[in-house]
Amino acid sequence: MTEWKDRIAKLTLPTPFPVGDVNAYLIKGDRLTLVDAGTKTKESWESFKSQLALLNLKPEDIEQVVLTHDHPDHVGMLDFFSPELEVYGHPLNERWINRTPSFEQEHRKFYETFFLQTGIPEKYFVPSMKVMKKTLVFSCNRSLTGQLVEHDVPAALPGWRVIETPGHAQSHIVLLREKDGTMIAGDTILAGISPNPLLEPPLPGETERPKPLVQYNASLKKLQKFPIGLVYTGHGTEITEVHTLIEKRIARQHDRAMQVRNMLSGREMTVFEICQLLFPSVYERELNLTISETVGQLDYLQSIDAVSVREEGTAVLYTAK
Ligand SMILES: [Zn+2]
Repeated sequence: MTEWKDRIAKLTLPTPFPVGDVNAYLIKGDRLTLVDAGTKTKESWESFKSQLALLNLKPEDIEQVVLTHDHPDHVGMLDFFSPELEVYGHPLNERWINRTPSFEQEHRKFYETFFLQTGIPEKYFVPSMKVMKKTLVFSCNRSLTGQLVEHDVPAALPGWRVIETPGHAQSHIVLLREKDGTMIAGDTILAGISPNPLLEPPLPGETERPKPLVQYNASLKKLQKFPIGLVYTGHGTEITEVHTLIEKRIARQHDRAMQVRNMLSGREMTVFEICQLLFPSVYERELNLTISETVGQLDYLQSIDAVSVREEGTAVLYTAK
C-alpha cells in the first residue's frame, strides 16, 4: 500500500535483476523529493506512475531527486523524467550515470587485468563483460545537478543529513533525519540479505582498486555511532533494530572469512579457485557477483593480516598466514 508516514512514502518497483523489486522513496520536504529512481524499464515506469496516482501525484510533481548510489536499479528511470529535473548525489555517481568513452575504456582495461589476476579461465572473459554491459542498459545517461557529501543537508530537505557509506558502491550515501533517527539507507543495510561489495575500477586519480568489503565494514561501524530508529531500505522491508543487525552482519562476515582462511591453510589458491569452492552451484551463472564476494573476503583477510599474497605470472595467489 502506498501511503504517507511521517512525510515519507515508500514506492516498490520491479527490476529485471535477481534481487527482485527495488524501493524508492518520496520525502515531503520544502520540495517534493524522490530518493532513488528505479530501473529503466517500461514496467518500472508504469508501476511508478500508478503508485504516484494513489497519492494524487504524477511524475511532473517531483521537484528533485537524491540518489543513494549509482546502481542501475536506483537511477535508471531518471531517463524518463524531464532533463530539467534536478538530481543530487555523491560526486562518484557521475562516472556511472554519465558514462564517457574514456571511462568505458578504463573500465574494460581494469577488468582485463583483474580477470587475469583472479585466474578466471579466458572462456569467461567475454561473457562476463557482456553481463556488465547488459546491466548498464537499465541505467540512465544524465549528469548530477549538484553534489552531496559527508555531513551535507540536501537542498530543500532541512533536518536531513548525508552520511557517506562507501562499500556496496563507491558513491553510496544514506540520509538521516536527525530529529527522530529515521534513515533512508539505500543498499547499505538490507533486512534479508547482505549487499554485494561490488568491485569498481580505481577512483579518479588513483591506480589501486577500492577494497569494497573493507570499506563496507567501516561504513557499518560508522553507522553504529548514530542514533538510528526506523530504517527504510533499498530492497525489502524496513529495519527497526539496526544496531543489533549490524553487529550480527559483521560477525557473520568474519566467520565466513575465517572459512575462506581455512580453505587456504597449507595451500595456495587463486580467487577463481576459492570462488568455485565457495559458490559451487552458482559461480558460473553469477560469476561477477560471486567473484566480487570472494575478492571481498580476501581483501578482508588481508586487512587483518590473515593471508599472504604473491604474484605468479599474471595471477595472484593467496595462502593462509
Ligand atoms: Zn545497489
